Amino acid sequence: MRSTILSALTLAALLGAAPEAHAALKVVTTTEDLASLSREIGGDKISVDSIAKGYQDPHFVEAKPSFILKLHSADLLVVVGRELEIGWLPPLLQQSRNQKIQPGSPGYLDASLTVKILEIPQGQITRAMGDVHPLGNPHYWLDPGNGRRIAQAIQTKLTELQPVDAAFFAQRFADFDKRLAEAEKRWDASLLPFKGTKVVTYHRSWPNFAERFGLDVIGYVEPKPGIPPSPQHTIDLIAEMKKVKAMVILVEPYFDLKTPQSVARETGAKVLVLSPSVGSEKEVTDYIHLFDYNVNLILGALKGTGK
Ligand SMILES: [Zn+2]
Repeated sequence: MRSTILSALTLAALLGAAPEAHAALKVVTTTEDLASLSREIGGDKISVDSIAKGYQDPHFVEAKPSFILKLHSADLLVVVGRELEIGWLPPLLQQSRNQKIQPGSPGYLDASLTVKILEIPQGQITRAMGDVHPLGNPHYWLDPGNGRRIAQAIQTKLTELQPVDAAFFAQRFADFDKRLAEAEKRWDASLLPFKGTKVVTYHRSWPNFAERFGLDVIGYVEPKPGIPPSPQHTIDLIAEMKKVKAMVILVEPYFDLKTPQSVARETGAKVLVLSPSVGSEKEVTDYIHLFDYNVNLILGALKGTGK
């Protein structure tokens, strides 16, 4: 007991003795992917908290009072944007009563503004198109090129908010950029033999991933984004998969496996539960591990198909 008090006092004294020290910038992100990228750049100059957990569907997050508290004291909020969080973030932001992090304020960063966005709808948008993705596909972080762009946007923003640490953030970005480039070489080399492999995905979470790594998405278990599987759509999907010989069904961990498994039984395809976000599996501890995990799962499945 006594020693705990003493060491706490010693720590306080040490902290007090560093006149240059400033409090870590409080960063809140909507997803764990953005939290991981923020950590890469901010290091110990920031504290990071994510609202959604990696195993949750980021379109539908249950609001908790603790989220409002986190947002209330945040210096910076980083969001995925493209209306991914439209169903749950706006009321939390309003109740946070924190002017610093409202859209348009310096403490608000929409990570989608500097990345490559796919599936931007052309013409008029109607409800018939489905419930989600009216501003293009928001699952863009699943292309490592976009991860690099997000990291760069975070570097720029952190530098703007805390210019005294500009060199630190720049060095952290350069280091991340280098490690990511090395990992990309590894992922590209291992997936190269499987270029053009036809796959089906449950939700439209993987267009950026598929484009980056040369997979060909030929259909979806959902008839439209946000709409649950229907019998007719499933019959059509099975017919199409048999026709083009699609052998893999990629599923996000928060969807029911019943329909994918029955499609797999009919077609002989394999069901793979991939990791759409950091934190969705125990070993997916950061942004680079996210791709390691998914690339390894896909490789394991495709090697088994004899393609
Ligand atoms: Zn989506």
